Amino acid sequence: MSDCLFCKIIKNEIPAQRVFEDEHAIVIKDINPQAPIHLLAIPREHFSAVHQVPDEQTGLFAQLFAAINQVIKNEKLEGKGYRLVINSGETAGQTVPHIHVHVLSGRTLHWPPG
Ligand code: 5GP
Ligand code: ZN
Repeated sequence: MSDCLFCKIIKNEIPAQRVFEDEHAIVIKDINPQAPIHLLAIPREHFSAVHQVPDEQTGLFAQLFAAINQVIKNEKLEGKGYRLVINSGETAGQTVPHIHVHVLSGRTLHWPPG
């Protein structure tokens, strides 16, 4: 989508620090990190939220998690522990309406989240 921040980052119209990319997804460093490691895994295709993805296209999630899996290995997060978060909707804290998985690691993460 032309006015979507993450679509602009995907198209290199806005810079971001990429730690991984393949044909289906990019993984970037969050601009306002909430943990020592805070990455965003973003599918190249624009959907505003998980529930917007039609059943026939849910392969997108397998591709996204394949990218996340690769990053977990590259960044050696297995031993550190990590949390994957998808905020959906304003009340859940979503501020960018393009699906993205937060990858948080490098500190003790408390539960329940705020
Ligand atoms: P949400 O609040 O939608 O779950 O997550 C959006 C995330 O995108 C936030 O953690 C925010 O810090 C991050 N973010 C917002 N604008 C930018 C940007 O221009 N570049 C990068 N790398 N991250 C951004
Ligand atoms: Zn988008």
